[in-house]
Amino acid sequence: MNIEALARPEVLALSPYVSARGSAAADGVLLNANEAPRTLTSAAPWQDLDLHRYPPPQPADLRQRLAGLYGVEEDQLLVTRGSDEGIDLLLRVFCRAGRDRILETIPCFGMYRVAAGIQGAGVVQVKRDADTLEVRADALLEAIEATEDLKLVFLTSPANPTGDTVDEELLTRVLAATQERALVVMDEAYIEFCETPSAAARLTRQPNLVVLRTLSKAWGAAGLRCGAVLANPAVIQLLGRVMAPYPLTAPAIAAALAVTGPDAREAQATLLLILAREKGRLVRELTGRPWVRDLWPGEANFVLIRVDDGPALVRHCAEQGVRIRDFNGQPLLDNCVRLTVGSPDDMNALRAALDTFGV
Ligand code: PMP
Repeated sequence: MNIEALARPEVLALSPYVSARGSAAADGVLLNANEAPRTLTSAAPWQDLDLHRYPPPQPADLRQRLAGLYGVEEDQLLVTRGSDEGIDLLLRVFCRAGRDRILETIPCFGMYRVAAGIQGAGVVQVKRDADTLEVRADALLEAIEATEDLKLVFLTSPANPTGDTVDEELLTRVLAATQERALVVMDEAYIEFCETPSAAARLTRQPNLVVLRTLSKAWGAAGLRCGAVLANPAVIQLLGRVMAPYPLTAPAIAAALAVTGPDAREAQATLLLILAREKGRLVRELTGRPWVRDLWPGEANFVLIRVDDGPALVRHCAEQGVRIRDFNGQPLLDNCVRLTVGSPDDMNALRAALDTFGV
């Protein structure tokens, strides 16, 4: 029996997302997935749970906690299994298969186009500047004007892997250009690492704005799979319609409350200071290495560099037990490599690996 003949053509045509953990061994010093180097709490609140009961679909205490953290009302927030689920829900709710389109500025995070591919939505890609990798505002606005059946515009601030933020003026222009036509999704997975304020403050005035947040990065909880969509209550209700009945597991709910509690917040403040210091040091050291051709320090917990032979650098580091992320072959990213900023020990291991590269 030809199983493939039964499957949807969109799924057969799909280039699936290649995750850091799925594509490289999870051993050694892991600087390839932009995770925090440690968990923010040692509490294990999942030990006494009534696991025979289904969990609350949208736990009131967690919703309240996250709404407080992100400065929104509870009816403007949906708790999701990471931002990945938020992206998937947005595609499924707003994009008609074979007709509607999303827009992204490439290079960018890969899940927007994968979720679009699964849904059968079109993807309009606006290339960033080939040298600076900055978003070309005029090209973006022109593409918005020119795209029919545009439903979602994805912006990332800070962006992955380039690390740049979306300035307020550009967001204002994009919101104006999409009004009544499309939603603007600001993916703020890394916003805690920079000074730029969240676009969430604009939600009440901007019905077509959506903000994505996550506990996976600065909250040290990628393993939890917990994030939030922040949006106008009408958007939140629509997303809730297509969500699985019990998306969050009881252990994940308990752990999400623990990792965002008062102790964890203090631990987070310390961690952010340590990572900022380590990042400053990494950037200074990379600037001094003769084989670094370009460097994008960005505003997040990672740095993007271009070298003469990116895959060779990634291989060399892997041989020394340090995993970094290869972007070679992706549009505009030939020989580019992304390095996540880790703990001081992680960075010592990275430094030792870099010291012997090309020697
Ligand atoms: N958005 C961006 C820009 C990311 O880099 C990532 C993770 N690499 C995500 C979203 C997904 O995060 P989550 O773990 O919350 O699904």
